[in-house]
Amino acid sequence: MKPVDPAIKQRFSRVKAVYFDLDDTLCGYWLASKAGLRATFEQHPVPAYTTNEMIAAWGKTFRDFSPELKEKTQLFHEYLTSGTVTRTHQMALTLLSLGIDDNELAKRLSQSYMVERDRNLKLFPDAVEVLEKLHGKYPLGLITNGPADIQNQEVDTLRLRNLMDNIFIEGEMRIGKPHQIVFDQAAEAVKCMADQILMVGNSYGHDIKPAIEYGWVTAWIRRDTDVPISSNSGKPEEKPAGEPEPDITISDLTELLPLLGV
Ligand SMILES: [Mg+2]
Repeated sequence: MKPVDPAIKQRFSRVKAVYFDLDDTLCGYWLASKAGLRATFEQHPVPAYTTNEMIAAWGKTFRDFSPELKEKTQLFHEYLTSGTVTRTHQMALTLLSLGIDDNELAKRLSQSYMVERDRNLKLFPDAVEVLEKLHGKYPLGLITNGPADIQNQEVDTLRLRNLMDNIFIEGEMRIGKPHQIVFDQAAEAVKCMADQILMVGNSYGHDIKPAIEYGWVTAWIRRDTDVPISSNSGKPEEKPAGEPEPDITISDLTELLPLLGV
């Protein structure tokens, strides 16, 4: 572990509450997604295509489709409530990209993918350790983007509900990170000033940059497994040049414990 700057230690000494992002901060979302797709295409083979070809086609479709989602207002509103419509739509687009026009098949694959992804979703071992050690010492919370049904399913699958004092889900709030109202409501829930709250997240753009902007203490977790299927680089997200640095960048959540006096 790198030595920590005394000014950073000083900032951490004021922390009274800790918020975590969920996917790829506490649990391996992309690991589960990849395992879920593999299981789905193995259990429901698509004629003339291998499992790897199907996963690659899904990744390419995801790359094109996910940035458009927030612009498609009607679809995005449905997505906030339930991931089913967009997940199935994206599966249908995957099949169409291979010349297969079959909505019933898309529905079966989408349902299987949801079940298998959930079956493969696990907390990282360092997340288990850190949550157990911080529980009861700090108010803990989640701030997570995604559909209400899927995010709640993840919270229950991972048995996080009893560990968390506050849970903020984009789909339930109808607005998500990086919007300030989400961070303000989270701060209000723990009755803390901004510089008394630690945000721990894997996404520079959604978790870290806004938290810096709103005055929170920040820990950017960067894991080697945090690589979307659609990634061109095969590497975790980089910080865009010229953007502010988080207080600390870590590769394992247990690096937080000494800074939090635990
Ligand atoms: Mg995340």
